[in-house]
Amino acid sequence: MTGYLDGNMLAGPLREIFAVDVTAAVGQCAACGTSGSVGQARVYADGPGLVARCPACGHVLMRLSRGPERAWLDLRGLIYLQLPVPGGGAQD
Ligand SMILES: [Zn+2]
Repeated sequence: MTGYLDGNMLAGPLREIFAVDVTAAVGQCAACGTSGSVGQARVYADGPGLVARCPACGHVLMRLSRGPERAWLDLRGLIYLQLPVPGGGAQD
């Protein structure tokens, strides 16, 4: 699979949805178990939406589609997404 963009290009589109910089978040691929930052994903932008794939195995990690007044975010390719949060205080 060629023609992909660096995962850091997701910063703008995802900033509309999340208040934090999601490209710094760490996710784990549901297919191969590789963990890495969203910014390391390979993003394919030549379809109707954005598709981020695992740099290790090529599995689809997330899909982002944008309409006029809403967005669809499919994260089923990730086991988890660990997001940096401001403040540093932990809640139990
Ligand atoms: Zn993978």
